[in-house]
Amino acid sequence: MAQADIALIGLAVMGQNLILNMNDHGFVVCAFNRTVSKVDDFLANEAKGTKVVGAHSLEEMVSKLKKPRRIILLVKAGQAVDDFIVKLVPLLEAGDIIIDGGNSEYRDTTRRCQDLKAKGILFVGSGVSGGEDGARYGPSLMPGGNKEAWPHIKTIFQSIAAKVGTGEPCCDWVGEEGAGHFVKMVHNGIEYGDMQLICEAYHLMKDILGMEHSDMATVFEEWNKTELDSFLIEITANILKFRDPDGQHLLPKIRDSAGQKGTGKWTAISALEYGVPVTLIGEAVFARCLSSLKDERIQASKKLAGPPKAKFGGDKKSFLEDIRKALYASKIISYTQGFMLGQAAKEFGWTLNYGGIALMRGGCIIRSAFLGKIKDAFDRNPQLQNLLLDDFFKTAVQNCQESWRRVISAGVLAGIPMPCFTTALSFYDGYRHEMLPANLIQAQRDYFGAHTYELLTKPGHFIHTNWTGHG
Ligand code: NAP
Repeated sequence: MAQADIALIGLAVMGQNLILNMNDHGFVVCAFNRTVSKVDDFLANEAKGTKVVGAHSLEEMVSKLKKPRRIILLVKAGQAVDDFIVKLVPLLEAGDIIIDGGNSEYRDTTRRCQDLKAKGILFVGSGVSGGEDGARYGPSLMPGGNKEAWPHIKTIFQSIAAKVGTGEPCCDWVGEEGAGHFVKMVHNGIEYGDMQLICEAYHLMKDILGMEHSDMATVFEEWNKTELDSFLIEITANILKFRDPDGQHLLPKIRDSAGQKGTGKWTAISALEYGVPVTLIGEAVFARCLSSLKDERIQASKKLAGPPKAKFGGDKKSFLEDIRKALYASKIISYTQGFMLGQAAKEFGWTLNYGGIALMRGGCIIRSAFLGKIKDAFDRNPQLQNLLLDDFFKTAVQNCQESWRRVISAGVLAGIPMPCFTTALSFYDGYRHEMLPANLIQAQRDYFGAHTYELLTKPGHFIHTNWTGHG
């Protein structure tokens, strides 16, 4: 009997939690998993006492669904998604909907969307952010794909999503084909950038100001009451405070070698592919790579000298405020670059819903008051070319600028690596320069390779000069 509103395939942590979330919001969910025994385990344990139903085959699952059938896949990204699609298609009819909520590569989503469209099946690729807690109590959802599916899934998606402000759901339609997964990828890249920026602030406090972990925790708690108000600043304060059972802080005992699963790298690769200067996320990925060379760094630390260690002689309180402003300005640059990469979506013929994207400011790891300001900027001007050109952000960077330059100068003199603070400032200085030294690059290219150049007075007209006077 058709009784279930939606089916979910994939009973690992994300799938189970999303099912329970949908159940809490009054939807009847049919659960299925490749290893079928997990369906019974789930019904007997986590889903006990709920309205969740199970299926022991895809045929049984499909027969339990109301039409148009809605099926969410929350399985390992890659081949598993294609395998399930192949098995599902013969069981479905035109107008039925398959949603992939895993961390799929956006080009795979575009391919699946196109293939399924030809078969009459509506495919949606949705970013799901916020980890297991988000899935259980309110994730940020980024659906994109075949828009005909949206009216049929909107109520479920917006009900289970995190809410901000006066109950606005952190979920809106993002755009065509792989747009949802593309936005999720950039979102994850931004997460890399935010985390590295916080680490650089921590490094400066620790090594220039010589601060204790508890004092740094207090500073982050204070910062969380400012423009920097965000989940990552909040958890950083908690991490800095945390003590082991032996009474010592845990953080300094953790091996300083960062892991990564690849979505930051995908963002940086896309940036290079589309020629968009998303330098901060790139540096954040490289900073993790450098950190992972721990053994080599131990050797190098014994051989390579930096500047002599100097005692901080300035005003500590005002330097902390400088660091805060440097972090804020750098963060603005990172989001500016992220939205610039979003504009590369034009290449795929997609129209991204930027305001809607910034609305994903709850539920996810990068949730912050700041994303609300970005939403306001796109509401003021939906055609906004660059976040830095919005009055609010222009003024915000202007107000931070002196502090930002002071912190970077002090950090460089003290030999502290600040890849993201510095690349952010270089981007800002590059973007605001009418003239860059690229005229010399053009001349060099023409000199050794006859690549030609344009004169400022004659754009579009390419000429070559015989620079050496030899034939
Ligand atoms: P996961 O460990 O990525 O995947 C486990 C699920 O995939 C199980 O249901 C497993 O079935 C199924 N599966 C694996 N290989 C399969 C194959 N070849 N064919 C069919 N099914 C296969 O689970 P997860 O951590 O819950 O994540 C689910 C998806 O959400 C992933 O794409 C992940 O990247 C994404 N995601 C995860 C998080 C997070 O915080 N964990 C956050 C956002 C997004 P069996 O039980 O039969 O092995």
